[in-house]
Amino acid sequence: MRIFDPHIHMTSRTTDDYERMAAAGVTALVEPAFWLGQPRTNVGSFTDYFDGLVGWEPFRAGQFGIRHHCAIALNPKEANDPRCRAVLELLPRYLDKDGVVAVGEIGYDSMTAEEDAAFAAQLALAVAHGLPALVHTPHRDKVRGTERSLAMVKSSGIDPRRVVLDHLNEVTVESVAGSGCWMGFSIYPETKMSPPRMVALLREYGLERILINSAADWGRSDPLLTRRTGEAMLAAGFTDDDVDRVLWRNPVEFYGQSGRLDLGGQESPDGTFEGNSILRGGS
Ligand SMILES: [Zn+2]
Repeated sequence: MRIFDPHIHMTSRTTDDYERMAAAGVTALVEPAFWLGQPRTNVGSFTDYFDGLVGWEPFRAGQFGIRHHCAIALNPKEANDPRCRAVLELLPRYLDKDGVVAVGEIGYDSMTAEEDAAFAAQLALAVAHGLPALVHTPHRDKVRGTERSLAMVKSSGIDPRRVVLDHLNEVTVESVAGSGCWMGFSIYPETKMSPPRMVALLREYGLERILINSAADWGRSDPLLTRRTGEAMLAAGFTDDDVDRVLWRNPVEFYGQSGRLDLGGQESPDGTFEGNSILRGGS
């Protein structure tokens, strides 16, 4: 089983996790920029963090044969802090770098006017840099947050096929399915989604435009839950090809839109890209 985790915060994980992930079949991932728990008090903290995402983490991952890419953004929570807002001016410099395959995580935390402004500005940056966008949906008031995110995506003019709305569940999936955006699901030990619930949603909604991630961060989380979801799919009667589509080809298709995925010849078993035109098309 080859696995591409499309959303995982390796900065908060140990090297043992990289080793376990490689043994479980994870050979590529995207690490989106996010909140670090402790509030940052100045823009320099972001510079060092972003440099880690394009430098140190790919090196750490590479020791286990894992291709590390990242998404760069001012996260929704810190968009509310006036000390952090100047990060927006720093972003264009990072969005031009090779390992950066999306703008993210952007979106809403508390749905404030400040978050509206940062969200709109960063969708515009995604369009300007020809990058996909990773949108985090809020943990509180999720339905309203998802609707408001879809409205923001629509008004931004970005192609919905270049946007994923993440952390969806049974309640929010329907509106995103009809929007043309990609549907992201985070599989967690206790909160968010579980492997069996994910399998039920795949039965209902099919495999198209679906991304499954472990999102693993500082809280209780498990970087192998992508693998567990693949196993639950097989146990439920999905084929190996179905699992490959959801856990590998879908993330390759979505982030391939950046024109910057570097998978080192492991794109498909014979070393060729499926959907070559999409991957190289970039725009
Ligand atoms: Zn995240």
